[in-house]
Amino acid sequence: MKQFDQIPRISLTITPTPIEPLPRFSEVLGGPEIYIKRDDNTGLALGGNKARKLEYLLAEAIAQGCDVVLTEGGLQSNHARMTAAAACRVGMKAILVLKGKEIEEYQGNLLLDRLLDAEIVVVDPDGPLSRRDAMYQKAEELKEQGMKPYVIPTGGSTGLGAMGYIRCAKEIIDQSKALGINFDWVVHPIGSGGTQAGLLAGKKLFEGNFEIFGIAADNEDFEPEILQIGKEIALLLESNLSIEPADINLNYDYFGPEYGVPSEIAIEAMKLLARTEGIIVGPVYTGKALAGFIDLINKGQFKAGEKVLFVHTGGAPAVFAMDIIDQLE
Ligand SMILES: *Cc1c(COP(=O)(O)O)cnc(C)c1O
Repeated sequence: MKQFDQIPRISLTITPTPIEPLPRFSEVLGGPEIYIKRDDNTGLALGGNKARKLEYLLAEAIAQGCDVVLTEGGLQSNHARMTAAAACRVGMKAILVLKGKEIEEYQGNLLLDRLLDAEIVVVDPDGPLSRRDAMYQKAEELKEQGMKPYVIPTGGSTGLGAMGYIRCAKEIIDQSKALGINFDWVVHPIGSGGTQAGLLAGKKLFEGNFEIFGIAADNEDFEPEILQIGKEIALLLESNLSIEPADINLNYDYFGPEYGVPSEIAIEAMKLLARTEGIIVGPVYTGKALAGFIDLINKGQFKAGEKVLFVHTGGAPAVFAMDIIDQLE
C-alpha cells in the first residue's frame, strides 16, 4: 500500500480549516451540540470544498505538462469558479463548460469566472450535445491546435479529487483529538459524491469513529458514483480499502424544488445560521443540507447529547445571483 502522503499534491488552500462551535444555533434547535467545519474558508477565491480536490487534480495536470484545464458545471458552479482560480495559480488557461440557456447576467460565481479570466462555453440543455460531450469535444479541438488540455469531470469527483476529502477526514480526526471532542456525526451536502467518498475513505484509513451523513442537493443516485470513486481511491493507494453500500448514508428529502433553485426551508436555514452565528451558507448545497439537518433534528435522527460536525462546503457566492430579498424578512 502507498502512503497517503505520497500522492502528489500542490498547495492551493489554507488548511486545516477551523472547527467552530455553534452555541447559539444549537440552543435555538434544542437538539445535539453542533459544530461547523469551515471549508467555506479554504482560502482559494472565496473558498469551498473543490479547492481541496483541485490540489490533487492540478498536481496531476502539472505532472502531465498540461497548459489548459477544462471542467463542467451549472451556470453558478462553485467548482468551475474554483477551477478557474486554481488555473490562475498555476499559470494555466481555464475553460468552463456550463449548462444553461444563455447568460442573462454576470453575477455570483459567473462574475468571478470572468474576473478570473476563464473562457466560458454555454451548453443548451435542449441542444444536440450533452455538456460532457461538449467538454470532451472542446478538449479534442484544443489538442488539434497543439494545446495540452486536462479535463476535470463534474465536481472534480474522481478518486484523485476525493483525496482532498481523505485529507479533510484526517484533519477532522486530528482536530477532534486536539479539541477533546468526539463527533458522533459528520453531516455534509452532496453534489457529485467526491466529498462523501473521500470522507468515508479517510475515516477508514485514519480510524475515525463518527458516522458520515450526506444530504443530497440533486435528484441523482449518488451511490454508484461513491462506490466507483471508492474503487479509484483503492487503486491509487494500492490498497484493499473498500467503500461498501452499507457505509453510505444519503438523504434525498431536501433537494427540492430542483437542483440550483433555492427552497423556502433552505432560505429559512440560511437566515437562522446567519442570524445566530453570523455565518453565510449558499442556497444550492449548504443551505439545503442545513435545512435538512434542522428538519432531521426535529425528526429525531440527530439527538440531544450527540455532537454533530456540519461541513460548510462553501457556495456563498451564489447568493448574489439569487433573487431572495423578499424572503429575508
Ligand atoms: C460541489 C459542492 C458540494 C458537493 O460536493 P461533492 O463532492 O460534489 O458531492 C457541496 N457544497 C458546495 C458549496 C459545492 O460547491
